[in-house]
Amino acid sequence: SFEMIRGTLKKKLFPSVTPYYKTPLLIHEGKMQWLFDHNGKRYLDMFGGIVTVSVGHCHPKVISALEEQMNNLWHTTSIYMHPMIYEYADALTSKLPENLKVVYFVNSGSEATDLAILLARLYSKNYDIISLRNSYHGMSFGAMGVTALSTWKHPSPAGPGIHHAMNPDVYRGIWGGSHCRDSPSQTDRHCSCESGQCDASVKYFDQVEEILKYSIPKGKVAGFIAESIQGVGGTVQFPKEYLKKVYNLIRSNGGVCIADEVQTGFGRTGDHFWGFEMHGVQPDIVTMAKGIGNGFPLAAVVTTPEIAQSLGQALHFNTFGGNPLASAVGLAVLNVMEEENTQLNSKNVGTYLIDKLQKLRKYECVGDIRGKGLMIGVEMVNNKETREPLSREYFQAIWENCKDMGLLLGAGGLHGNVFRIKPPMCVNNNDINFTVEVFETAIESFVK
Ligand code: PMP
Repeated sequence: SFEMIRGTLKKKLFPSVTPYYKTPLLIHEGKMQWLFDHNGKRYLDMFGGIVTVSVGHCHPKVISALEEQMNNLWHTTSIYMHPMIYEYADALTSKLPENLKVVYFVNSGSEATDLAILLARLYSKNYDIISLRNSYHGMSFGAMGVTALSTWKHPSPAGPGIHHAMNPDVYRGIWGGSHCRDSPSQTDRHCSCESGQCDASVKYFDQVEEILKYSIPKGKVAGFIAESIQGVGGTVQFPKEYLKKVYNLIRSNGGVCIADEVQTGFGRTGDHFWGFEMHGVQPDIVTMAKGIGNGFPLAAVVTTPEIAQSLGQALHFNTFGGNPLASAVGLAVLNVMEEENTQLNSKNVGTYLIDKLQKLRKYECVGDIRGKGLMIGVEMVNNKETREPLSREYFQAIWENCKDMGLLLGAGGLHGNVFRIKPPMCVNNNDINFTVEVFETAIESFVK
């Protein structure tokens, strides 16, 4: 029974396994953008299992690819070859810029981050890594080091050589840059200053320069890692040109640039297949997970042959990485994305969503609406002027009320006050109408 399962959850799982909602949902079934609980109640899943269900829960084409593979071969490890991994590697790398040709498959975003850091250090022969405050790159030892969100940090074994630069947050950051905030185009929160010479871009950039100058021996850096839009950190976008300038700086100091595309990859941001494309940069290493497998444990690191070569002849091993099942699923997901034009849907439905959300700006508690494609954040505040984060009780009440009305939203940000909307990319305008209607009803019920 439901009560028994809840009891077991409390007794048998680590207390750090913390389900959403006061009365946690018990989910039995998923179909495209819908989830069904133990009573058969239907929910519109506007969070996609944390940006992971990319083409839809139990997408029939992904199921049939998995079924076919399941009946043939599950596992070999990389000590034998199997055809699926080659076919998939070929398809995946064809989605990336020309020079990013080789892939190493792993099982999670954290593993991908670890490998990216290792590659940066081996290739550059330097040690120090710069990441951004408010970032999330995973929970394994290495990934936890570069993860900078304090809410997600443990007494970390990250060791020395990790530096967190100020994240260029144009809403909450100390150097906001009003022209970044007041960008006329609400779907593009990039700073309107094309040259990248605005306050925000320059000052945050200077901060990276200072780290190189004051904290890293001879300024020799191994690498820089950043999300293209900070995800767990609350859908935080960067001013235009910021990443481009940082990439140049890092490279001129001997380092490589790592794009964490775990959330922003695979068409999520609408205009581009990869989030880094919106910044006009070309990373040296790309990490990807979540949406790559539509919920199947699969992740990857893609880089140049030269950087991959730096692992040398040393044995580097991952038991499950690139296994036949994961490869079959990954390939099927890519095919579905192409056949169903999910990136375009992400762009169109995402634009419709951000437009629809604008009417919520009239509420004092709606501080900011931002994001691209189907990666949207609504930052809730007590006061528009001071931007003090909305009190937890109100945030929670709105969130739970949405759930009761059949709408699942994500929550995040350093202050836990950002609603995150990142559904499976098969959602349509009707789903958006429902989402905004329910969200508004919930806000109305609890607004002070
Ligand atoms: N990078 C980013 C941007 C993420 O959002 C996450 C997961 N939230 C990770 C890395 C780590 O992925 P995983 O949980 O699969 O280890």
